[in-house]
Amino acid sequence: MNDIKYDLIVCGAGPAGSSAAIFAAEKGLKVLIIDKSSFPREKPCGGGMPHSVMNYFPKLSWDDVIEQKVTFMSHSHNFSDSQKHSFSKSGSDDSIIMVSRKKFDLELLDYSKKSGVKFLHKTTIETIDESNNILKLFLRSSDGTTRILNSDFLIIADGASGNTRKIAGFSDTYPLAVALEFDFPVDWRAANFSSDTLFLDYSLQSGYLWAFPKKEAVNIGGGIFLPFLPGNVNKCECKKLINNSIQKYLSFFKSKGIFSLISDTCTKSETLTTPEGDFKYHAWMLPLYDKYRKLNNKSGRIILCGDSAGLINPFFGDGLLNSIKSSSIAVHSILETNSCKYSDAIYEALGKTMCSSFRLASIFYRWPEFFFKHFVTRHSATEVAYKMLSGTMNSEVIIEKIKRKYGRFLPGFSSF
Ligand SMILES: Cc1cc2nc3c(=O)[nH]c(=O)nc-3n(C[C@H](O)[C@H](O)[C@H](O)COP(=O)(O)OP(=O)(O)OC[C@H]3O[C@@H](n4cnc5c(N)ncnc54)[C@H](O)[C@@H]3O)c2cc1C
Repeated sequence: MNDIKYDLIVCGAGPAGSSAAIFAAEKGLKVLIIDKSSFPREKPCGGGMPHSVMNYFPKLSWDDVIEQKVTFMSHSHNFSDSQKHSFSKSGSDDSIIMVSRKKFDLELLDYSKKSGVKFLHKTTIETIDESNNILKLFLRSSDGTTRILNSDFLIIADGASGNTRKIAGFSDTYPLAVALEFDFPVDWRAANFSSDTLFLDYSLQSGYLWAFPKKEAVNIGGGIFLPFLPGNVNKCECKKLINNSIQKYLSFFKSKGIFSLISDTCTKSETLTTPEGDFKYHAWMLPLYDKYRKLNNKSGRIILCGDSAGLINPFFGDGLLNSIKSSSIAVHSILETNSCKYSDAIYEALGKTMCSSFRLASIFYRWPEFFFKHFVTRHSATEVAYKMLSGTMNSEVIIEKIKRKYGRFLPGFSSF
């Protein structure tokens, strides 16, 4: 493998990395993908994404991957006033598909291998040298083996906690959200509600709680957007806040008899020790979009995709669709010999929408109770939420509407 020159090396085999590898290999490029982990591996994630993701991989075995298809959202504030609405009035096939990340990521990686991509597991990049119009990558495997490989391009897709972007000289500070999630086993045949509904509650300060139905479980989690938090709350305190709210959310479901069969033990979790006791959780950082961040180096040979590029939607904290879209844009710009303009292409395709999502989020998470009462309870809000999750709605339209209708009722609104 040492002597081979690749057209593209991709670092990180999550959805962003595997997608990039697939798109490039399908266009005839010689591609290698590396990951510090072996697969299958866990990744903290709710695993919900709009069904339009399926269009990117028409040949993937989706039936093996999709755990539930959801067509309704049930919104509540402070665990009361639940309102359930469908994503669309018109009876279209709009849906959110729920996957287990362990399975989904493995399926994508296997698909990339079938497309001709080579894979090295337990491998990271130690240094990157760019000279004579080629990249020289120094790789190290967990058993100590080292390799030097040449490539025309490098896509860095090693997620929120990856350090390769730093090695490549990119900045490593992002606006962040913090999220935790748990899996609770559920027997759907005996549960008191149908598995076609996802639940959102907006009582968490500067964030929200979710409950997503899976095949044999419900995934319950919460996230806090740090830029919208008033005062100085550190990440550990955020985790405690989320954890406490999740306990309450769980009691809410139990009191309604919805998840009466939930066992008290969560799966795939770690333990957080706090003065209040031990909590089991799966926590991770979510890097939000920053339009001033460069996502390609000067030559355009090194490109960031997915969470490594900070492409988390600042309203809902979802990142799967954007990860896949960014990889498609990255491969396209490589093929069009336009990769030194990749940052601009991302801004045009995703960034503008995310900047307005950020503005809407900063308004919504400041007055969640007000917006819950006046907006979220309407059917049209669920349609808007679905469009935002699908990346088909620029939130400026909503911000203008809010300004006209409610601006005068919200003290300090004009500063947003
Ligand atoms: C609690 C939580 C819930 C979420 N829920 C949702 C949701 O419901 N829907 C949604 O759309 N998004 C959700 N997200 C966001 C979503 O998980 C991410 O946007 C998505 O995983 C990004 O994919 P990625 O491929 O960029 O990164 P990742 O999925 O993180 O993959 C990165 C890969 O890089 C590898 N890696 C790391 N470091 C190195 C290294 N140095 N060298 C080589 N390889 C390395 C890792 O092993 C990993 O395989 C959630 C996030 C969290 C934290």
